[in-house]
Amino acid sequence: MESVIIIKYGELSTKKDNINFFLKKLKENILFTLNDLDVKITYDLGRMFIHTNENFDEVIKRIKNIFGIHEINIGYIIDSTDFDIIKEEILKLLKEHEFTTFKVESKRSNKSLNTTSVELSKNLGAHILKNIKGLKVEVKNPEVLVNVEYRINNTLVYFEKIKGLGGYPVGTLGKGLLMLSGGIDSPVAGYLTIKRGVKIEAIYFESPPHTSIEAKNKVKSLAKKLAIYNNDIVLHVINFTEIQESIYKNIPHDYLITIMRRMMYRISAIIASKRNAKILVNGESIGQVASQTLTSMNAINEVVSIPVIRPLACFDKLDIIDIAKKIDTYETSILPFEDCCTIFVPKHPVINPQKEKCYEYEELIPYKDLIYEAVKTHEIITIKAHEEENEFKDLL
Ligand code: ATP
Ligand code: MG
Repeated sequence: MESVIIIKYGELSTKKDNINFFLKKLKENILFTLNDLDVKITYDLGRMFIHTNENFDEVIKRIKNIFGIHEINIGYIIDSTDFDIIKEEILKLLKEHEFTTFKVESKRSNKSLNTTSVELSKNLGAHILKNIKGLKVEVKNPEVLVNVEYRINNTLVYFEKIKGLGGYPVGTLGKGLLMLSGGIDSPVAGYLTIKRGVKIEAIYFESPPHTSIEAKNKVKSLAKKLAIYNNDIVLHVINFTEIQESIYKNIPHDYLITIMRRMMYRISAIIASKRNAKILVNGESIGQVASQTLTSMNAINEVVSIPVIRPLACFDKLDIIDIAKKIDTYETSILPFEDCCTIFVPKHPVINPQKEKCYEYEELIPYKDLIYEAVKTHEIITIKAHEEENEFKDLL
């Protein structure tokens, strides 16, 4: 009997034809997260197993952050399908525990057993009652839930169920580019996108000296939080100062944000194409601010042809904040460093910008040259999920 960590796939198991592709990736992602530990992974279409002598708590702490895992069980593989042997092995395990109430639950993928799951549970329950004195079966709230899975080649038994994150293994759905500001919304948008199996890179627009090094470090720190789910993360930092100053000096202020965001979208689309990212992702939410009215989104979105995914489009702010707290980005997001949008925010941004006005105003600045320059000189940083380095740690 071997002690193992068992992984259940959940939604993944609905991927009939290409499930192997998803499982291979899941295995790779788990190995990536555990790369400094001595582990071996095996799997079949129903379950994945982590075989290791390392501390199980440490392994579980890490794999709880991996998408594509529906449930984790600490359990045992009994190398037999013989019911008498199985009964004895389970009895041995139970004798190590102090408890008074229990219940047996059975699953049976080995259909050659000439009986039902309910019968198997009953038989095993009776065997346990007969051999361990003072026990009682309790259906509603047992102290010990004995889960047994009767499989073709072996049998699994486990007592603990730990909820996984669900979703798809990161990387199975290609790559996206997340527009990552220092705010609350965009890290949450990134998290939800990674959950769907999309590996993300991030892009951040900074405007030094109008924006501080602390603002940039805050974004790096948020990227590091996302890196846990994403197997590290590449962050593109675009110097947006000249573009922003040029807009500020030359364009009527009610259109500052609209034009600025059109520039951000254009640059993001260029970086996405260079990096083979198939979508842009951002934290826009309908109606949240002037630039997120439907007319604004229309006027801004039209400058790119790449799909723009807005995972938070229909979320209330309070629901977004709940997720931000859960993924531990909230406290960082609310640190008070200005980002490039807040500094140049006009008193009365236009709520229903007209496209014709955008074209007219954009003629007033050499934006193509400015974009070319910004893309050419941009900085690329790889942020690791599990390294303690980072010059920005002290600042936060
Ligand atoms: P957040 O809380 O994510 O900053 P927000 O409510 O402040 O969002 P906006 O500032 O209008 O809203 O930005 C909308 C989205 O545009 C952000 O969620 C983010 O995806 C992107 N964005 C805004 N500013 C930047 C920036 N400086 N760099 C990269 N992306 C940005
Ligand atoms: Mg913002």
